[in-house]
Amino acid sequence: MLEIKHIIKRYQYQKVLNDVSMKFPRCGLVSIVGPSGCGKSTLLHIIGGLDREFQGELLWNGKSVRHFLPFYRKKHVSFIFQQFHLIMWLSIKNNIEISHFFSSHSKKENQLDIKSFQKLKMSALSHGQRQRIAYLRACYHNGDILLCDEPTGSLHPSLADEVMALLKKESQKRLVILISHDRHLVEKYSDEIYEMKDGQIENHHIFQHHQFHSLACHHVKRKRLSCLHMSILSFLSHKIRSMQLITGLSLSLLCIVFTLTMSQGLEEQIHRYIYSLVPASGMSFQHSQGQSLTQSFCQELEKLPAIEKVQLYLDDYEFLGIGFVMERYQESEVVFIGDDTSPYQQLLLHSGRMPLEDHEIVVSLSTAQKLCGQEDVSQLVGKKVYAWYQYGYEVKSIAYHIVGISNQTTALETIYQRSNAYIHLLKETYQFDDSQVNAKLGILYVHPDFQRHEVFEQLKEQYPQYRFLEIGASTSQKISYTMKQVEFVLMAFSGLAMISSLFLIGEVMFLNVVQKKKDIAIMKCFGATSFDIMKIVLGESFVTMFLAQIVVSFVYCCFIFGVNTILSQVLLIDFSLSIDLRLLFYSYGASYILVFISQLPPLFYGMCLNTIKALK
Ligand code: ADP
Ligand code: MG
Repeated sequence: MLEIKHIIKRYQYQKVLNDVSMKFPRCGLVSIVGPSGCGKSTLLHIIGGLDREFQGELLWNGKSVRHFLPFYRKKHVSFIFQQFHLIMWLSIKNNIEISHFFSSHSKKENQLDIKSFQKLKMSALSHGQRQRIAYLRACYHNGDILLCDEPTGSLHPSLADEVMALLKKESQKRLVILISHDRHLVEKYSDEIYEMKDGQIENHHIFQHHQFHSLACHHVKRKRLSCLHMSILSFLSHKIRSMQLITGLSLSLLCIVFTLTMSQGLEEQIHRYIYSLVPASGMSFQHSQGQSLTQSFCQELEKLPAIEKVQLYLDDYEFLGIGFVMERYQESEVVFIGDDTSPYQQLLLHSGRMPLEDHEIVVSLSTAQKLCGQEDVSQLVGKKVYAWYQYGYEVKSIAYHIVGISNQTTALETIYQRSNAYIHLLKETYQFDDSQVNAKLGILYVHPDFQRHEVFEQLKEQYPQYRFLEIGASTSQKISYTMKQVEFVLMAFSGLAMISSLFLIGEVMFLNVVQKKKDIAIMKCFGATSFDIMKIVLGESFVTMFLAQIVVSFVYCCFIFGVNTILSQVLLIDFSLSIDLRLLFYSYGASYILVFISQLPPLFYGMCLNTIKALK
């Protein structure tokens, strides 16, 4: 049972309600009549739990509900407003069932025929049709109290009678409180009438008491993910603005993702270039007292399982290159070989096989192309080439058989041979023995199954009289460091782009909430709590963000695929960008946090909205 006691309401210094007390029955139609401006609407807002700033008490079943107004509203109250207050961007069905978005309740069958117009848009509806929607919405939210603020005020007299008859019927099952200035109409239907003047009750007439009939209805649960559903409907209600937002957000996200991917790709490319010059598995070694390295030490190292190949660099010899002319050394006929010590690691063959004998070699694809010019490289396999070595002023050649071609493109012209094969062959050609081998520098290659740095530490400990050095390690470390700095600067700039676009979304969402403040107030009248409003506002920006991320993911994948295709098939460059899922994950995560922060002003505005002012 509803009761109000000693209600006083002031606007600034004006006392709009002055000690109003009323006790309502469980059901029946109770009307409040009085001249315009006497405080009827103000009283109705207090009874409906929309206004919390008043003196006095609002009691439901003898208990004050002042501190539980949202729950009181949600459970007990529904409204019919003079201006209907329908949400124009919702469908007719969603307008009627709006309370279903915010609470579970009992549902009655439709009493009005809306079939003829239920597919229309809200904006296409006539006055009378809107009135029916407002009525159905109030009945759908099946609270104990139905509050009607001048429901017939703007209607044609015949329609007003129809509405009053419906309200009369409704009042058999619940309490209907009606405000009107039409004394004549009200007298025909009401069970009780209060007369108000200047904020006070002047008269109270009771005509009859109704027996309360409980309702035959079935229970429906609250819609699942209803706030998200509402967010999506709100998002769709301004499609063009939403698309603009998605475009802005996508651009700034793409900016970050591209920048980072490109800089990482570049860093990888630089590393790969370094390691193509000096393999990542390579380690140089020297005797710490500058003595010559011996072949027996090489053999000892080669026996270790972690070491794949050991090669010595002879001090007194110089490798001039290879060519097909055997008679004498002619610089123009010879391809200079920059690298004759590469290990076979991860070597895939284009054609032929690996070297088994000392005089067998494999050449890299780029070197093979250089050797044959226009012709097909495969015909090189099985051919003899002459490798020219200089010792003092003497230049002599060693004949090698090309037994295979690797499918690698190398920065330097490269041949692959068995460990120290050239030393064995040179010894025969120049007729010297092991004691005359003079090599200050050796290079060993770590087996791919082992970590170079661990092997390095192990060797340092095992052979303290030798100095080992990881080739290219410090260079690539320095490059990594520099690239990290570059990346940081780029990221700072793209971060700024992101933040500015988030200010944009914050601003747009704020305007959106301001524009929809009336709709938010309507939702509050039909059971939405401030928390629900928060979820709807936040949900909409997250939906926007989510769609922007789908766009970004799609464009990102297309971009990487496109760049890789162009690089590898059109420009024939051995460089590819890879899709970095971790990068996407982090940047998306960060953008959600930033969206949340940018949404604080609209959230705050939506949650603290003054329902009554917003409805005016
Ligand atoms: P009624 O519904 O009986 O026509 P209202 O309850 O709407 O009257 O208003 C009662 C009085 O309170 C009026 O004099 C009106 O000017 C005043 N009033 C209503 N709302 C406000 C407000 N937000 N600020 C100041 N005065 C208000
Ligand atoms: Mg009024």
